[in-house]
Amino acid sequence: MVELKTDTAIDAMHEAGQVVARVLTALSKAADVGVCLLELDGLARDLLREEGATSPFLGYRPSFAPTPFPAVLITSVNDAIVHGIPTRYRLRDGDLLSLDFGAELNGWVGDSALSMIVGRPRPADVRLIETAERALAAGIEAAVVGNRIGDIAHAVGTVCREAGYGIPDGFGGHGVGRRMHEDPSVPNEGRPGRGMRLRAGMVLAIEPMVIAGGTDGYHAAGDGWTLRTDDGSRAAHVEHTVAITEAGPRVLTQR
Ligand code: MG
Ligand code: MG
Repeated sequence: MVELKTDTAIDAMHEAGQVVARVLTALSKAADVGVCLLELDGLARDLLREEGATSPFLGYRPSFAPTPFPAVLITSVNDAIVHGIPTRYRLRDGDLLSLDFGAELNGWVGDSALSMIVGRPRPADVRLIETAERALAAGIEAAVVGNRIGDIAHAVGTVCREAGYGIPDGFGGHGVGRRMHEDPSVPNEGRPGRGMRLRAGMVLAIEPMVIAGGTDGYHAAGDGWTLRTDDGSRAAHVEHTVAITEAGPRVLTQR
């Protein structure tokens, strides 16, 4: 069931979304060559506490997961697409790092992700991240009253495919509200004009994931959480929480 949010609720979700935005900005500045992924998770915990917010990630256990998620931050490096658990790994020059972060404030959740390059960028990685960001922008542009879920999915998927990238099937966006994952699901590929009609008050996480090698395959790493590309190529992941309003899409996690 899809819960429509009031304007007041959307304002409250914007507050939660801005906590996420501020923390992601701070994390992206802190992520540098030699920094350990667990240090980033520790910084995220400190910032959450300062903001008076809590983590919807910590202890989260969806049906596919073998263990509760042990961190407040997701760190997916290079061939990791999403769901990377922070480890002692120290970031290296040229790493492609995706940070996915959520916050719960006053009972409302915000969810957002960015991809970045640590140190000196490779042109291919720059293009990959720029494409994911363009796909996200296209998805947000399609998140308007009267469109359908398939229009968002089609907008996202078209940008990724036209660039020649793969799209991991089975993972994508979702409704957001008092819980991190609500109905409906928002696939990263689909047919225009299909699926649920978009209405004012829907709040959706739109989150393109792109695989540089152009194939769609992925597998869970040994920790049961981290999803890695089958072809070993790098992946990018970006995400915003977006409210659909009569005045157009409102990006609640805008940095
Ligand atoms: Mg997320
Ligand atoms: Mg999400």
